[in-house]
Amino acid sequence: MDKEELVDARGGWTPGKLEYKPLFAFPPKPIELLKWLFNYPDGFIFPWAAIHFAIAFLCYYFLIPSFEILSTFSLSWISIIFIKNFVVLFIYTGLWHLHLHTNNSQGDKFRYNLRPLGKGKQWFFGTQTRENMFFSLFSAVPIWSAYESLMLWCFANDYMLFPIKDWLASPYVAIYCVLLFIFIPIIQHVHFYCIHRLIHWKPLYDHIHSFHHKNVNVGPWSGLSMHPVEHLLYLSTILVHFFIPSTPLHFVYQGLHTCLGAQKGHTGYERLVVDPKTGKSIPSAGYFHYLHHKYFECNYGELTSPLDKWFGSFHDGTKKTHEKLFKSNRTA
Ligand SMILES: [Zn+2]
Ligand SMILES: [Zn+2]
Repeated sequence: MDKEELVDARGGWTPGKLEYKPLFAFPPKPIELLKWLFNYPDGFIFPWAAIHFAIAFLCYYFLIPSFEILSTFSLSWISIIFIKNFVVLFIYTGLWHLHLHTNNSQGDKFRYNLRPLGKGKQWFFGTQTRENMFFSLFSAVPIWSAYESLMLWCFANDYMLFPIKDWLASPYVAIYCVLLFIFIPIIQHVHFYCIHRLIHWKPLYDHIHSFHHKNVNVGPWSGLSMHPVEHLLYLSTILVHFFIPSTPLHFVYQGLHTCLGAQKGHTGYERLVVDPKTGKSIPSAGYFHYLHHKYFECNYGELTSPLDKWFGSFHDGTKKTHEKLFKSNRTA
């Protein structure tokens, strides 16, 4: 553990000094990279990317209609997509909220901010959770479903630029498809960094992104509690698959991982205790993004791609970095 003094060492949980993942390390660190990718439970794939992939896989094969049906727009199959996404998001986020916040199952263990979630007139319907739920379910889900439906319709009509119709067509296509599944979260992180920097531009921040930042303390439903224009930008990551070779399962997974990942990333707890007797735990939210909610002008991306480091906005959780970041910015 790093000995540097932490900026937020009072009360809540702090994981220590943050470090970037070995994906873009230079010189490359192949062994560390493989360990990070495949480790359990603290690797990149296991458990969460794999769990989200499994949900996307089951939804894709059991709930999405055939491409013959998808080739013509109709309210009936678009409703199926909407209900599928609504139910998945409701159950997934509801379970996180119920376990960590309603039942308080692990108390404040690994919790960043010990204050309760907000209540009062500043929240629609009187509480932070109700407001967060409303915008997740009735703005994020329709926009996610609209993008997904559009992409399915494009694929069914052969409008994609580089559609992969048979991922087993050759060993190269199969390897590419597997690698693309692994890197879908990275595509999302880079896309998120770009749109996130954009909406921190003052006029857009004031009218759009400030709505998400009402959530200084966060719960699982805060992840997708955004202004609808932010949903349009944030979820447009699905459209990337219009321009790159991919299968429909890739973009269905991209949408689902983006939405479920946002909720998981805002649980407010660094880790989820899975066995209270042994204290065994698996990762949950990220302190990196929690610092963004706390201090606003830092950590716009994720710890996978070092864009914040390259562009001077990386907050590693230490007092030293905090002073360096905010001294010059706060002269006004
Ligand atoms: Zn956030
Ligand atoms: Zn922000």
